[in-house]
Amino acid sequence: MKQHPPEPFRIKMTEPIRLIGLEAREKALREAGYNVFGIDAKNIFIDLLTDSGTGAMSQHQWAAMMTGDESYAGARSYNRLSEVMDDIFGFEHFVPTHQGRAAENILCAVALESGQYVPSNMHFDTTEGNIRARGGRPTNLVIDEAFDIRSQHPFKGNMDLEKLENFIAEVGVENIPFGMITITNNAGGGQPVSMENLRAVSEVYHRHGLPFFIDACRFAENAYFIQQREPGYAEKSTLEIARETFSLADGATMSAKKDAIVNIGGFLALNDDELFQKVCNELILREGFVTYGGLAGRDLDAIAVGLREGLDEAYLAYRLGQTAYLGERIKEAGAPIIEPVGGHAVYVDAGKLLPHIPPAEFPGQALAVELYREGGIRGVELGSVAFAHPDPDTGEMVHPQLELVRLAIPRRTYTQSHMDYVAATLGRIAERGESLRGYAITYAPELMRHFTARFEPLGE
Ligand SMILES: *Cc1c(COP(=O)(O)O)cnc(C)c1O
Repeated sequence: MKQHPPEPFRIKMTEPIRLIGLEAREKALREAGYNVFGIDAKNIFIDLLTDSGTGAMSQHQWAAMMTGDESYAGARSYNRLSEVMDDIFGFEHFVPTHQGRAAENILCAVALESGQYVPSNMHFDTTEGNIRARGGRPTNLVIDEAFDIRSQHPFKGNMDLEKLENFIAEVGVENIPFGMITITNNAGGGQPVSMENLRAVSEVYHRHGLPFFIDACRFAENAYFIQQREPGYAEKSTLEIARETFSLADGATMSAKKDAIVNIGGFLALNDDELFQKVCNELILREGFVTYGGLAGRDLDAIAVGLREGLDEAYLAYRLGQTAYLGERIKEAGAPIIEPVGGHAVYVDAGKLLPHIPPAEFPGQALAVELYREGGIRGVELGSVAFAHPDPDTGEMVHPQLELVRLAIPRRTYTQSHMDYVAATLGRIAERGESLRGYAITYAPELMRHFTARFEPLGE
């Protein structure tokens, strides 16, 4: 068995968790409309719903919070964050926001018009939702290997450059306000993007005069993958790799709840002075003044410390090792996963595990429900519930290429034996896969429906 690095920390505060009985789990499922988002956290044993805002802060982050300056304008906390932002990202301007989606909303508010297209490798669901909410059309142009779960491509998050060129020629640069790329590619399995690809994407966007924005939620994990896998980067530090990454772009959106290891926060960063003015106006209307953007001063301090801790190489070796470990154990237990394993999560291929359930009956939902019923584990469906949508031209339902259940690993929160338990639970479900049935939606809103949809089991 491969030895992964042990946790580079020890635990000095604990939070109890408990597994409630099977009957209570079944009741919780019924009451939640078979949507695990609707289950109270107290009834969850191991919560792998998301790695967003669920990490454990370090003693240095907690100590920094005590120094938070809650001044409305020009707080010291803002200046401390600003210094770190300059050092790592190097953009001319940034504003704090309360989450990543707030940064996306503001970017779309100031830069996107209805009917315009925004290309990316793959947009995450909130990015996609924010673009659609303003009448825009998010377009995914990731390489085909992203959808081949057998492919061992080291950078499955890469953009397909030929698809990108063809797309720009087809819709016309005048219909594209800016281009994006997501690092790592969350919607496609947390897969990294290579520096070579980032450089090429930057070149294509800039040749066409298009501003380039990076969705930077997991920039540190991406930097570590580049260091480990890309020729020429083994000797570079993750900080140097991050700096090189952002030097290629004109701006970035980020949820600090990911690689900045805080419980709340985000930012929008950019170089353009004129656009920044519009961003500030929109921010003040929606989020707060430009030096706090919907956060407390202490939150800014926690982000400033967390951004540096997130880039620490001993931490990243443990972090990505833990994800790889869970992937290895799940495969051994007989459930198919996306490979190679990404950074923050293991993605179980529910479409392949449950081939008898068609996409219209939500195999991912069936697996997510069963994980909770069997073991009190909460994951999230990222398949047809999250991503199927009517084609704006034909009205026909477009299903995503993969039906996945994501098991996201909170940072510095669960141990190896928690991971063993998750893999064993999946193994028991895989053994009786044919007995699982699909689901029908009984309620769903138009956008972001996986958060609040309700379901009923089919064929019972
Ligand atoms: C989490 C996430 C977002 C949105 O951030 P929130 O803080 O949840 O609003 C955007 N893009 C990616 C890739 C993400 O993982």
